[in-house]
Amino acid sequence: MCRVNNAPVVVLMLPFPAQGHLTPLLHFSRLLALRRLPVVFLGSSAHNRQAKLRLQGWDLASFPAISFHDLPLPACPIPDPDPESAVKFPAHLQPMFDVSDRVRDPLDQLLAKLSASSRRVAVVHDPLMSFAAELGSKYPNVEAFAFRCVSAFSSLSFQLNQQKDPKRVRPDLDLVSPEGCFTKEFLEFVRRRHHGVPLTKGEIFNTLDETEGEFVGRLSKMPQYRNRRIWGIGPIFPIQLEKSSGPKPDLLNWLDKQPERSVLYVSFGSISSLSLAQIHQLALGLERSGQRFLWVLHCADRGDIFMKTPDPEIRLPEGFQKRVAGSGLVVRGWAPQLEILSHGAVGGFLSHCGWNSCMESLSLGVPLATWPLHSDQPANAQLVTEVLKVGVVVRQWTGAGAGAAEEVVAAERIASAARRLMADTAEAIEIRNRSAKLRDAARRAWARAGSSSTALNSFVELVTRA
Ligand code: UDP
Repeated sequence: MCRVNNAPVVVLMLPFPAQGHLTPLLHFSRLLALRRLPVVFLGSSAHNRQAKLRLQGWDLASFPAISFHDLPLPACPIPDPDPESAVKFPAHLQPMFDVSDRVRDPLDQLLAKLSASSRRVAVVHDPLMSFAAELGSKYPNVEAFAFRCVSAFSSLSFQLNQQKDPKRVRPDLDLVSPEGCFTKEFLEFVRRRHHGVPLTKGEIFNTLDETEGEFVGRLSKMPQYRNRRIWGIGPIFPIQLEKSSGPKPDLLNWLDKQPERSVLYVSFGSISSLSLAQIHQLALGLERSGQRFLWVLHCADRGDIFMKTPDPEIRLPEGFQKRVAGSGLVVRGWAPQLEILSHGAVGGFLSHCGWNSCMESLSLGVPLATWPLHSDQPANAQLVTEVLKVGVVVRQWTGAGAGAAEEVVAAERIASAARRLMADTAEAIEIRNRSAKLRDAARRAWARAGSSSTALNSFVELVTRA
């Protein structure tokens, strides 16, 4: 429950209910709490529980300034994910996305209470929850800010693609097609849910100057930012992870036994599933690559991750696990990605290129093998391979329609990309050197006068001004 009593300035965090949106807003809460701001994290009881359960890198118990407030959300039937669907976008979650604005009334009551007892209330919300900015505009001392959980590059690409002016992102780039990235229903949903964004005082991106400064700069010149600010505050997670207090997971013990930089980590994030045919090709590809690997295999999240229904069984090719025993580990279920990427044995990340995964990998100096499935992932993959040049392509985005994502990537292609990334060729060494530079840049961004520290200071100064 909301524990804030008469603090001069209070921050409300309103995330969109999906893992890749919960995590960065909770990390941002930590950064604000470190600057002595009380933060109330809002969500349904299940999503608040999910955010706490999956938090990595720091201990919530050391941050009493962060409290959680459950907003009642009506129950709605949410279908199970369908790994065999030709559409890789997590359409099964759409009913839950649709009801996520039913928290308007309780949110309004909370705003009324806090605006009466505080000098100022800053609402940091996901752009997909921008009704919060509309509600806030009723109160003289409530200010709203949008926290974008996507890259500045993908945001700019989508906008300029829409304006049929893709070369303005960067003249030397042929932007990947936005076709097939989203379902029609989701695009319509985005259009409805972005209404309140112009009412915000500005937008925060989980990014940093050296990675995306050029694109943040270009975004800030777009007409919609004329009277609004943009802050690049990233990486949003603590680069120096705190040691977790629980027992060490077996997979980390396994990594301890592997040579330095020898393991390819494989994961497709939280809300995507691969078809069985694709999983078989991936297994064979990893085996044929001859590389060590750690593969986290699970189905896309359900709307409520605490539901007791078991996930469908995912069978791997006959004899696969025996054949790769010793050099390859398959982990089923949720894995501590930040700890994995921080481990010295990990030398590459085969990723779907969700923006959190990209930022985590880039900031920890782990080069990527890119395999985008939907949403902003194709644009992020392009940023990684063509702009930052810290990765190799596994799956080229063709964008021929939502069904395009169903094309099965063959084992040979996967094996050759894995070898290319993990090898000791001149190309792989250059990629590794560039990754190391980005890792150093991420540390510098959080040094005293670094770009992210400065941006965070400027945000905090704005919300706490007299
Ligand atoms: N993640 C994790 N363990 C898993 C899968 C995902 O810790 O087994 C975390 C990952 O570190 C990242 C987030 O979940 O912070 C996934 O967000 P991302 O934007 O990469 O992809 P999405 O899940 O939204 O597609």
